[in-house]
Amino acid sequence: MSSLTIALAKGRLLEPSLELLTTLGYDVSAVRESRKLVIQSNGARFILAKPMDVPIYVEYGAADVGIVGQDALRESGANVYEPLVLGYGKCRLVVAGKPELQSAEWKMLAGLRVATKYPRVTRQHFAARGLSVEVLQVFGSVELAPTVGLADLIVDVVDTGRTLRENGLVELDEIFKSQAALIVNRAAHTLRAREIRELIERIARDL
Ligand code: AMP
Repeated sequence: MSSLTIALAKGRLLEPSLELLTTLGYDVSAVRESRKLVIQSNGARFILAKPMDVPIYVEYGAADVGIVGQDALRESGANVYEPLVLGYGKCRLVVAGKPELQSAEWKMLAGLRVATKYPRVTRQHFAARGLSVEVLQVFGSVELAPTVGLADLIVDVVDTGRTLRENGLVELDEIFKSQAALIVNRAAHTLRAREIRELIERIARDL
């Protein structure tokens, strides 16, 4: 049988994910050394994708499993199994805005504009609270939006909080906590049950 295809998120999660795979015995040197996006290694084929794209590769079976942040997973809405969290890449998805909103009853204000890279999660969050907001999708530097008047609020991931502070923003609400997770294609979970179970058990032993 062919080796498992593992989709990895580029960016912040890549290095700790490669360290985890090395501990499991995979040779990931070619992932570090080349700019290829598909890399055959000993016992696995790796696909390198943007974090937001990893869930879709796994959902549609282009990869059997993936390692991705739960923030990207929730935003994608992908129908995959999520058997294991991996304990790294911890961050929080928060609502933030200018400090004056902290004292104001901002939750009572109608028609606020929210800039975010997470439009789906943002809509769900505000709709669940009965708040009507306009969601603007941006693809980076979200913290800029309130400063230049594009939006009243942002929804973004926060790690240390330094980026918010340096851009004069404060946290107003936490939406959820996130960390890296292993995700599994639903068909592969059945068809390649033994290999996937072994992988999950090996990771769980190492955590
Ligand atoms: P910080 O200043 O440490 O709060 O980091 C916030 C910035 O880093 C924001 O621009 C986030 O988009 C980004 N960031 C923080 N944690 C993560 C993560 N786990 N995955 C992706 N981006 C992150």
